[in-house]
Amino acid sequence: MNLNEAMSLINANIRALKPYHLEPDACTIKLNQNENPFDWPREIKEEVARYCVERPWNRYPPFIPEELKEALASCTGAETGSVIAGNGSNEMLLVLLLSLVNRDSTVVFCEPTFSVYKLLVNGLAASPHAIPLNDTLGYDIKAIVEAVKKNPGCVLILCSPNNPTGSAIDEQDLRRILEIHKGFCIFDQAYVEFGGYNAIPLLKEYPNLIITRTFSKAFAGAGLRLGYLVGNPAIVKEINKIKLPYNINFFIEFTALTLLKNRDAIFKTHAAIKAERDAQYRFLQTLPFDAVYPSAANFILVRCRKRAGLFDALKAAGILVRDVSSYPLLENCLRISIGSREENQSLNAALKSFFDAHT
Ligand code: PMP
Repeated sequence: MNLNEAMSLINANIRALKPYHLEPDACTIKLNQNENPFDWPREIKEEVARYCVERPWNRYPPFIPEELKEALASCTGAETGSVIAGNGSNEMLLVLLLSLVNRDSTVVFCEPTFSVYKLLVNGLAASPHAIPLNDTLGYDIKAIVEAVKKNPGCVLILCSPNNPTGSAIDEQDLRRILEIHKGFCIFDQAYVEFGGYNAIPLLKEYPNLIITRTFSKAFAGAGLRLGYLVGNPAIVKEINKIKLPYNINFFIEFTALTLLKNRDAIFKTHAAIKAERDAQYRFLQTLPFDAVYPSAANFILVRCRKRAGLFDALKAAGILVRDVSSYPLLENCLRISIGSREENQSLNAALKSFFDAHT
C-alpha cells in the first residue's frame, strides 16, 4: 500500500479538520493563554517532588482516583459520585461528546466560542449548529431557546464565561434554557472562579446538565493537565464507562490533592486578578480601540482596526497576546489575558506608545 492509499483510509471527517494550533512563540510577557500569572509556592512543589521520588514508578496509579474525585466534588460543593477527572477539561469534552453524540446528532453552540467544540463535533461526524452571539457579543438567549426547540434532543454546549469574549450567562437565563431543553447541556465553566454564575446548585434540578471545570486557569495548574466534569451521579456513572482507564497518573493525583489542601495560597490571587481585570478594562477604554468588551473572565477582548500592526508592536516589546481575528464576528480582535500588575503595566506602556505613534 502506498502512502496515499493509507491516507485515504483515515476517516474523511478527520482529514477535513483544520488542526487546533497555537504558534509556539517565546515572549517575556505571556498574555495569550489565559493562565494565572502567579505560580504555586516552592514548598508545595517540593512536597510533591518528595512524594514522586519515593513513590514506585513501576506501579499503576489507583484504578479509580477516588480520593481526588471526592476532594473535587467537595471543593465545588457537588455530591459524592458526581465527578470524573481527566487530562484537562479538553479530555472531559471528548469523553462527553463520545458518550452523547453520534453521526445523527446535532450539537448546538454559540459563536464565537472555544474552538475545540466545533473540532470535536466535526471529528465525530455530528452536525454543528452555531448561533451567533449578539451585537455586543453577549448570548442571544431567545435564539438559543429557538434552536433547542427546533432540534429536540440536541446537545447544547454553552461556555460561561465565554472564551474569547468574556460574556456570561446568568442563572435566570440558564434556567430558561434548561426548562425547555430536551437534550444534554454541557456548561463549560473553565473561567468561573473569575466571574459569572456558578451553576453547580442546578445539577440537583436538571439531570441533563453537565458542568466542566479545569485546574488550568484560576487554579494556576495549566502545566499539570487536570480537568473534571460534574453531573448527576447516575449519568456520570454511565459516561465514565468510555473514559480510558488510568487517565489520572500518580503525579497529577498527588499534586491536585496537595493543591486542593493548600488552595487558599492560590485563591488569594483571584481577588487581585479580578481587580486587575477591572482596572485594565477602565484603562483600555481610554485608548482609541474600536471596542473593548466587558469580561467576567481573566482576559479582555478588544477590537482594533490596526490589529496586525498592534499585535506585531506588542510582540516586538516582548508581549504575546492572542490574535482571534479569524473567529466569526471577531474581525480585528485581540484577546488579552490579565497578567500580574507589572506585566499589565508593561502592556499598557506598549499600548500607549503604539497609539501615540499611530494616531
Ligand atoms: N474550555 C475553555 C473555555 C477553555 O478556554 C479551555 C482552554 N483554553 C478549555 C476548556 C480547555 O482547558 P484545559 O484542557 O486546559 O482544562
